[in-house]
Amino acid sequence: MEIKFTNSLTRKKEVFQPIEAGKVGIYSCGPTVYATPHIGNFRAFIFADLLRRSLEFLGFEVKHVMNITDVGHLTSDENEGEDKLEKGARIEGTSPLGLARKYEAEFRRDLQKLNILTPTELPRASEHIAEQIELIKTLKKKGFTYETSDGIYFDTSKFKNYGKLGGQKMEEKAAGKRIAVKSEKRNPADFALWKFCIGENANHILRWDLETGEDLSPKSKVQSPKSKSGFPGWHLECSAMSLKYLAPEILQTTCGELCRTTNYKLQTAIDIHTGGVDHIPVHHENEIAQSEAATDRKFVNFWLHNEFLTVDGGKMSKSLGNLFTLEDLEKRGFDPLAFRYFCLNSNYRGKLNFSWEALQNSQNALQNLRKIYQNLPDGTVVDSEVEKFGTALADDLNSPQALAVVWDFAKSPIANRATLRKFDEVLGLNLEKKEEAIKLNTEQKKLLTERAAARAAKDFERADAIRKEFEKMGFEIEDTSDKQIVKRKL
Ligand code: AMP
Ligand code: ZN
Repeated sequence: MEIKFTNSLTRKKEVFQPIEAGKVGIYSCGPTVYATPHIGNFRAFIFADLLRRSLEFLGFEVKHVMNITDVGHLTSDENEGEDKLEKGARIEGTSPLGLARKYEAEFRRDLQKLNILTPTELPRASEHIAEQIELIKTLKKKGFTYETSDGIYFDTSKFKNYGKLGGQKMEEKAAGKRIAVKSEKRNPADFALWKFCIGENANHILRWDLETGEDLSPKSKVQSPKSKSGFPGWHLECSAMSLKYLAPEILQTTCGELCRTTNYKLQTAIDIHTGGVDHIPVHHENEIAQSEAATDRKFVNFWLHNEFLTVDGGKMSKSLGNLFTLEDLEKRGFDPLAFRYFCLNSNYRGKLNFSWEALQNSQNALQNLRKIYQNLPDGTVVDSEVEKFGTALADDLNSPQALAVVWDFAKSPIANRATLRKFDEVLGLNLEKKEEAIKLNTEQKKLLTERAAARAAKDFERADAIRKEFEKMGFEIEDTSDKQIVKRKL
């Protein structure tokens, strides 16, 4: 079956061919673990999971690598500001790695709740310092770097294809920037490969020796920090870890300088790289520049980017109070997989606006589908339906169309569980799940008690107001003469 993906590199829908027949390597930019990931982040991870599961469904052996950023991501995606982990740790009164492990655990917990398959590898940036230093050394040898008072920078003017992903020219990038702060940089688009622990980063806890890779953080035994003590820039970790886990032979030939002396086939390093659209102009552009400059070959064949999850058409942000975590959804009585359904019901390339009503509709649809599934005979897999489902996925991961195939089939006279189970290998909606008894939180229980009292006192206005509040939270209240029965709204 022909598989097509929209490639951000060409801005076209193209036929996908893996580098090695039957196998696919996917690299996905993972979370920066300084806070609980929000549901926008999870849209990106659900999309990466859909890609992986779809390719497996279509017969490929997939290796999926996702990084955990636990050092080097500054508050600005470019080179300024404080490290998000160091800042978070200071606020929470813990160590940067203590903070990182706490939020990595939350991230892993939420992956499970959303039925996102654990990536084959989930490497941490702080545990791949040697590989990052190796890349810096290669780039230095090839003349792509220069040093300023605060770090080692990549000289984008030396890389002739800089800007090919976002379609931006260097001049546009320069013009679009506010006056470059601390302008020791040669070109506005140049980015840090390594930051020294000086100036605003003087107290950076996680630090290493640039020459030897030795750990120089306070907990290490190595005394007297050397002049080059510092930490890697955020973009570098993704090049180092994607190459290490998906194209190790390429990394070896690069670092061992073998590529020019052997008959090495200059194939592309990686099949597919994913991330949110916000990463296109800086992070992914920079990953391409440093990887291709270091390895002399194309870094990635297919760049796939998910659009944003929005709220009221705009950005989710802490300051606007519209940033939600999976826990927020669960507190309102939602099944995390209703959010998965909500994401799958729209194409990854379009913006998706989050609202409680829309999530409720997804939850209703999911519960209906489960009910239908659980009342069907088992039967045997209907190949023609599997083919239709696969065709939808092969068309640029058209998951809304795949769901339409599921619904048509589920309502048809030939519907059976075996086929729906096959679909669920990709959808991950846990069709076997039985409806649980509703668990109300303390506040909801209090409201219900208040409503019972209001009814007894014939205060129907208050009783109705509370019913409406429950409706907003996705529940219905059925009154009997002496009881209130709470049900999920369908
Ligand atoms: P971060 O932890 O900030 O590095 O982001 C992790 C992933 O989530 C990246 O691929 C981002 O592009 C993606 N992302 C961040 N915010 C959103 C959003 N609102 N909608 C969809 N994806 C997002
Ligand atoms: Zn990345």
